[in-house]
Amino acid sequence: MSRLTERFENPGDARLLLDRIADLARSSGRDRVQLMEVCGTHTVAIFRYGIRQLIPENIRLLSGPGCPVCVTPNSAIDEFIEMSKRPGVIAAVFGDMMRVPGSVTSLERAKAKGADVRVVYSSLDALKMAKENPEKSVVFFAVGFETTAPTIAATILGADRDGTQNFFVLPANKLIPPAVAAVLETEGLALDGLICPGHVSTIIGSDAYEFIPSRYGVAAVVAGFQSTDILRAIQLLLEQVVAGKPRVHTEYSRLVKKEGNPAALKVMYDVFEPCDSAWRGLGVIPSSGLKLRPDFSRFDSSERFDVSVAQSQEPAGCLCGEILRGKVDPPDCPLFAGECTPETPVGACMVTTEGTCQAHYRFRESRD
Ligand code: SF4
Repeated sequence: MSRLTERFENPGDARLLLDRIADLARSSGRDRVQLMEVCGTHTVAIFRYGIRQLIPENIRLLSGPGCPVCVTPNSAIDEFIEMSKRPGVIAAVFGDMMRVPGSVTSLERAKAKGADVRVVYSSLDALKMAKENPEKSVVFFAVGFETTAPTIAATILGADRDGTQNFFVLPANKLIPPAVAAVLETEGLALDGLICPGHVSTIIGSDAYEFIPSRYGVAAVVAGFQSTDILRAIQLLLEQVVAGKPRVHTEYSRLVKKEGNPAALKVMYDVFEPCDSAWRGLGVIPSSGLKLRPDFSRFDSSERFDVSVAQSQEPAGCLCGEILRGKVDPPDCPLFAGECTPETPVGACMVTTEGTCQAHYRFRESRD
């Protein structure tokens, strides 16, 4: 174990935490305790540190729906690709979305065929682009969770103040708590605890997860991203499981408050309001997305462009849907590491560094 914990920021603390986890795993008396990390950044950290291999065999870690690129459904991707082909449109998008396969093609391939698709680092870049290209319409693909939505909302407020007429968004932002509830209601998936996302929680606060123990009797720990944060989260979850007293515990208290960030939430809800939203693998989840409030609907790309797409489809043979619900692991997919690799991704979960399939693929050698 000492060789494996050398890569940890604090190997001494990591070894103590692993010993405590082993004690708790034994005293649980359970054949299997199932914990899920919700956030894609946690998934990558867990693989990078080899944590799945270091914890006892009766503790199973599953990955959840916390990668924003992965959960954006093909219907939204197809619509944005179709929009990008319109004359006079600049389609502005985060780089991770470029290679995600839609039903027929990807943004990368649409760009190669002449669509004006440009990578931006933020919605503010897209607004700047609109001001620099007044003869064009700039459409920004608004994907991401509560971490990105406040900045997008602030950008729309700025465009509204400036009277910008050629800036639009395709609203596809999603909210984490309704998706967590949908996962907890998945038939046959008996979860004992959740490692709740650190970044999202800085915005929504730890109080947003109170429904996890109160409605579902499941333990919850909000965790940071260092190796010891994750190990401590596992320890705290197991303590709750062993005691039979699930609650919300914030391990990441250096950044996460109970109430979150009220200023960011206010900006987000000044511009957006919750709506039912489709998630890859999870279907339509009530009140899990954000749409523009009527005062800002003129920025909605669907108000400006009449885009219709044929019935969207998932890539044949891809199991991303089941993976995002924690029902199967990537190696269970017959295409994993053969037809589907980070260089030739068949599904969204292999495209981005935060995707569960790519994490499995990249760190499989170190795991072996
Ligand atoms: S390995 Fe590829 S095809 Fe299989 S589930 Fe993952 S992304 Fe989809």
